[in-house]
Amino acid sequence: MALDDILERIRKAEEAAGRSPGSTRLIAVSKVQPLDRIEAVLDQGHRLFGENRVQEAAGKWPDFRDRYDGIELHLIGPLQSNKLRQAVELFEAIQSLDRPKLARKLADLAQERGACPRLMIQVNTGEEPQKAGIMPADADAFIAQCRDMDLPVEGLMCIPPLEEEPSLHFALLSKIAARNGLPELSMGMSADFERAVAQGATYVRVGSAIFGERDYG
Ligand SMILES: *Cc1c(COP(=O)(O)O)cnc(C)c1O
Repeated sequence: MALDDILERIRKAEEAAGRSPGSTRLIAVSKVQPLDRIEAVLDQGHRLFGENRVQEAAGKWPDFRDRYDGIELHLIGPLQSNKLRQAVELFEAIQSLDRPKLARKLADLAQERGACPRLMIQVNTGEEPQKAGIMPADADAFIAQCRDMDLPVEGLMCIPPLEEEPSLHFALLSKIAARNGLPELSMGMSADFERAVAQGATYVRVGSAIFGERDYG
């Protein structure tokens, strides 16, 4: 099975990097995938999943949660302010915190609810204008700002530019996390997760290599 293959490749990459087995967690990215493929992965015992749209996640995960215990769901796509309330109720973790306005609204909601999902800050390591994420030069100040608001920021996330060597971006993300004392690094997808493990990823986000190609048709 594809899931077992990916888990095995992660273990090998951990070993090659001298890291302890299990120090990288696999997020199965289930966006756009048919329900039966997700169910097959749940039936194999996997419980950690990523979705990149709030609406789509709201349509399928409440039902899966009724049927399977211990599901952990991470939001890995852009978050609009008007979807924030729904997002904090749906997700155990939000990896796409990327701007001060969103941080402020999250802090208000956290106070109101007395709870907040775990958070990761998305960094636009390639400084691509069309891509979400805080710019690397602004990351330290933004992390400090989030901490001042008592937000539970655990780490950083990035999506490197398509045409560039991802390892350089993984290394940059790792450096920013280290100097800010943040333990979690979410980086690496189907094409490059082993390189991300080599650079210290604690989460890799793998979709098509587990579920097959996404059919947007
Ligand atoms: C879709 C997606 C992934 C998974 O991509 P694959 O190439 O299918 O592994 C990972 N991270 C984010 C943010 C995504 O949107």
